Amino acid sequence: MCGIVGYIGKRQAYPILVGGLHRLEYRGYDSAGVALLSDKGELNVYKAKGKVAELELVASEKDCSGTMGVAHTRWATHGEPSTKNAHPHVSESGNLTLVHNGIIENYVVLRDQLKARGYHFQSDTDTEVLVQLIEYVEQSLGLSLEAAVQTALKRVIGAYAIVVLDRRSPNRLVAARKSSPMVVGIGEGNEEFFVASDASPIAEYTKKMVYLNDEEIVVCERGHELRVCTLDNKDVPVEVKNVELDLTMLDKGGYPHFMLKEIFDQPSVLQDCMRGRLLPEHGRVVLSALTDHRERLVSARRIVIVSCGTSWHAGLIGKQLIEHFCKVPVEVEYASEFRYREPVILPDDVVMAISQSGETADTLAAIELAREAGAFVFGVVNAVGSSIARNTHTGTYIHVGPEIGVASTKAFTGQVCVLTMLALALGEARGTVDAAEYRAVVEELQQIPAKIEHILEQNSRIETLSKIFTYAHNFLYLGRGWNYPVALEGALKLKEISYIHAEGYPAAEMKHGPIALIDQEMPVVFIATHHQQYEKIISNMQEVKSRNGRIIAVITEGDEVVKKMVSEYIEVPETLSCLAPLLSVIPLQLLAYHIAVQKGLNVDMPRNLAKSVTVE
Ligand code: GLU
Repeated sequence: MCGIVGYIGKRQAYPILVGGLHRLEYRGYDSAGVALLSDKGELNVYKAKGKVAELELVASEKDCSGTMGVAHTRWATHGEPSTKNAHPHVSESGNLTLVHNGIIENYVVLRDQLKARGYHFQSDTDTEVLVQLIEYVEQSLGLSLEAAVQTALKRVIGAYAIVVLDRRSPNRLVAARKSSPMVVGIGEGNEEFFVASDASPIAEYTKKMVYLNDEEIVVCERGHELRVCTLDNKDVPVEVKNVELDLTMLDKGGYPHFMLKEIFDQPSVLQDCMRGRLLPEHGRVVLSALTDHRERLVSARRIVIVSCGTSWHAGLIGKQLIEHFCKVPVEVEYASEFRYREPVILPDDVVMAISQSGETADTLAAIELAREAGAFVFGVVNAVGSSIARNTHTGTYIHVGPEIGVASTKAFTGQVCVLTMLALALGEARGTVDAAEYRAVVEELQQIPAKIEHILEQNSRIETLSKIFTYAHNFLYLGRGWNYPVALEGALKLKEISYIHAEGYPAAEMKHGPIALIDQEMPVVFIATHHQQYEKIISNMQEVKSRNGRIIAVITEGDEVVKKMVSEYIEVPETLSCLAPLLSVIPLQLLAYHIAVQKGLNVDMPRNLAKSVTVE
């Protein structure tokens, strides 16, 4: 959550910083701010409530010159979204300014101590204690900026990614991280440096990037090698990575919203996800993680999947896939519950962490716990080089390109695709998968992108359908078996972006409660494709129909039985049962998208949400 950008170099900083904030706006967007050090040594700080565009409006008539600065787009944790709470925050003397992502848990104690020493606070944020504490330490102990940052951070409990600018020191920016992401980009000849929450604001300027680890500090000084050190001032070898980002993925590519673009990206990015791994010509799946760690993965007695939100839904599908093909018990846990529940983790467990951003705070903490207990940790991540990718023993990237829309779409299908390949490969290694079924799934998986393409051709039909349902205050989504997690995901999509209350349920559970809600006002989405328990879900549909519920059915192409029963339906191509979620989720993504657009809502930046949940 929250986006940070910092720049020091030869170019004008403002366009780089604001351009970077636009790229990071998916991470938080309740307020934004920028601090620039002009060539005359003036520190200019501008802030605005709302989106980055509001900040640009404020800054448009101001002095935005300077070749160094920091900027921030906020997702408020402490203190309402407002101009005064927006970052950057400035220290008592006006010398230091700082942007922060994360939460300072002991901020009340620190703030009281600083107040007692004459420091004044302008905001309600936890962040402001950081800038004041760094200044206090610097002044009272006579320390350099980086030494003051090191000393101050040792007194802090919580999570942080920070960038600090000292107006008396126009050649250096200092940044640090703990449990919040931070990347540094190195320009030509060490003449310029970029600091950001992820690689997207940096990628157009340099490919040379350094990912910071927890409790590391970085000093970016014009004309000097980048220095990375610990809070105890021990040098850390700088590991420069060559990061290639497909910049076209960071633009809307002619679509009105990132979410729609990402829904339409799915056929091509799933091909990227499978490239080199799914080998239909050999009838096989090859995953390097499995080749490299075959013994450890094959001997797992249990797999525990930890994840949050949409990734948790992908995990539920992963459980069915792995249990089906590998005959290993799988548990799926909310990472936030797992981490605080004293879970029993055995050394021969494999803990699998699923996260689009690779920075999800709760999932990272769950990994930590699993590692401490001696489990082998496997990551299923999208963001290359992210914290989860680096803190797991091995893993498989989903490779669907940056996902900007806050409501996850292509990352979900990418996760399901990777989990399918993993279940097949592991099943083969364990000797638990039927050879003919294995070949059939490999063959069919290859057809999935084209089948998704075919569903996307119904976009305008789904748009028309969506107009009927913008009135609704509640929705129910029902599915069974492979389509039960799809019902959960469909409901989540709708509530995230349209603010319509929606519940997903296993269809049979309807009788144990939700059926009481059904009347002619209540749309019920049935995911009723031709797979296991088809007849049973038809009966559930009859039960809703008898109570005048309004049914929207996702069905297999040509299903005349359901077409006769309901007035609203969306058809998806026939596929194998275990691959059904990859197709049946697509109409639900489009339905949620169009309902939200009909309601005039900002689908890419829904209220109160942010993309990368880096706070617990
Ligand atoms: N806790 C800080 C605040 O509420 C930072 C939030 C963020 O990461 O955007 O201002």
